Amino acid sequence: MSDCLFCKIAAHQIPVKAVHEDEHSIAFPDINPQAPTHWLLIPKQHLANITEAPYEVLGHLMKEAAALAKREMPGGFRLVVNTGDDGGQTVHHLHVHILGGRHMGWPPG
Ligand code: 5GP
Ligand code: ZN
Repeated sequence: MSDCLFCKIAAHQIPVKAVHEDEHSIAFPDINPQAPTHWLLIPKQHLANITEAPYEVLGHLMKEAAALAKREMPGGFRLVVNTGDDGGQTVHHLHVHILGGRHMGWPPG
């Protein structure tokens, strides 16, 4: 999608400090971190949200997110996929928030 911010990041048209990249996905720090470590993992393919994603994409994203988080956040972490207006989604390209480095409260805001 030509006007999609995360598609531009995935295509390296907007530079980011990638913390992970493979054929299907890329992870980079959130511009407005909500925790000491806050990364976004996105599929390179444009998918508006989790409801549009096939099993293979979700499997890849979840495995990668968990592997990244386990390596960098041994004390624990939280994976978040905001979806739609009520879910607080602001960028309409599927992304997994990877948060860690502090204790997470519950329920979330
Ligand atoms: P959402 O609210 O859709 O779940 O998450 C979108 C996230 O993208 C937000 O946490 C926001 O800070 C982040 N974000 C928005 N624009 C940019 C950007 O240009 N670069 C990076 N690295 N993160 C961004
Ligand atoms: Zn996109």
